Amino acid sequence: MTDLNINMLLLSIGFIVFLLVCLAFFGAAETALTSASKPLMHTLEAEGDRRAALVNRLLARRERLLGSILLGNTLVNILATSMASSIAIGMAGEAGVAYVTAILTVVVLVFAEIMPKTFAIRHANPVALAIAPLMLGFVAIFGPAIHAIHSFVNLLLRLMGAQAPEAQTLDASMAELRGAIEVHAAPDEVQGERRMLRSILDLNDVEVGEVMTHRSNAVTMDCDQPPAQLIAAILASPYTRIPLWRDKPDNIIGVIHAKDMLRALHGADGNPDKLVVADLASDPWFIPESTTLLEQLDAFQKRHEHFALVVDEYGSLKGIVTLEDIIEEIVGDIVDEHDIALPEVRPQADGSYIMGGAVTLRDLNRDHEWKLPDDDATTVAGLILHESRQIPQVGQIFRFHGFQFEILRRHRNQITLVKVAPINQPRLASK
Ligand code: ATP
Repeated sequence: MTDLNINMLLLSIGFIVFLLVCLAFFGAAETALTSASKPLMHTLEAEGDRRAALVNRLLARRERLLGSILLGNTLVNILATSMASSIAIGMAGEAGVAYVTAILTVVVLVFAEIMPKTFAIRHANPVALAIAPLMLGFVAIFGPAIHAIHSFVNLLLRLMGAQAPEAQTLDASMAELRGAIEVHAAPDEVQGERRMLRSILDLNDVEVGEVMTHRSNAVTMDCDQPPAQLIAAILASPYTRIPLWRDKPDNIIGVIHAKDMLRALHGADGNPDKLVVADLASDPWFIPESTTLLEQLDAFQKRHEHFALVVDEYGSLKGIVTLEDIIEEIVGDIVDEHDIALPEVRPQADGSYIMGGAVTLRDLNRDHEWKLPDDDATTVAGLILHESRQIPQVGQIFRFHGFQFEILRRHRNQITLVKVAPINQPRLASK
């Protein structure tokens, strides 16, 4: 071999090595860009990171990006193989093809595929940020060709009867968001945050009827009782807003705010007889029980109000709902300075829980991560009535949905105290 030939050979081998490096780059780019965290890239872009903005631009036109990578990959691969084959044939004749195939398969697999892709998958975010500017230039060059190829392929697919891909539905987006919450949260430290995020996504599925204070527990007052008596009752109540009724409890004529009443009382030199309490009340705001929590939250914000009366389709009072009831759906129980803080659910040593019949299934599911169905009943007592289809006796035990329910107390037709135990609880099973 002459010096010139040796130089040419070295140059060709150097170029093949360069092509293999390009191959490794494309492999790493594809893996890193498709596995990079989308939420992280959006956050970084919002914070002013220009490389993250480039990653988002590339991902926004994913088909073009992947097409360009594929084009580059194929081009480099074929070029490297042809060059290596022609060198090998020149040196070893026909057998050279076999040597090149064996050597290139190992080299490409290890150094241009597995190694860069493994590295990229382990460091997807930094690699994606690092290669984004180069990839953008590359896509700018090859993008138009890829676009033309895609149009041609889409035309062929349409001629063969393939459907165009459907746009992502709202349900699918919500499911993706829920999945992201479950997947990304570490087990214990972020339990609370995860619960709140889940509850926020549920706001559109839950109706006010499910979280309201039922009319049987609502404090309402007859506006026609003597003013001194009415004022004393309002002051004695733990609540700030009291619905007032006339003639019958269903006929709500207004809602009195304790502070408005005190202000008026002060203006009347503390003489209750000078006051007509009903005149101080604001108009009642009635809402249907089928209003979702998201709609109601929005309505509370728009009307600058915190209190609404829930009615059924016939206009009968079902209960009351306040801003706090909705916030509690997200953050859990809020006990303010006037609330009477009774533990509604008392854990027992054997792993069971004793609770009032009025405890809501939503609260139980949220606080204990249970999955009791809340479609047909709102409270634990309601669920027992629904499942047993009878008014149970004290001492009766029911088992359904993976739980055991024991009736501890009943008042007339109301189940007032229940013992609930997960059935697969080890300590209960051994009893
Ligand atoms: P505020 O916090 O503005 O002084 P509040 O403590 O009286 O008002 P909210 O904080 O709005 O009332 O609500 C706390 C809980 O009390 C909610 O579950 C709500 O449904 C309930 N609630 C509010 N008013 C009444 C009422 N008149 N009768 C029964 N329950 C009420």
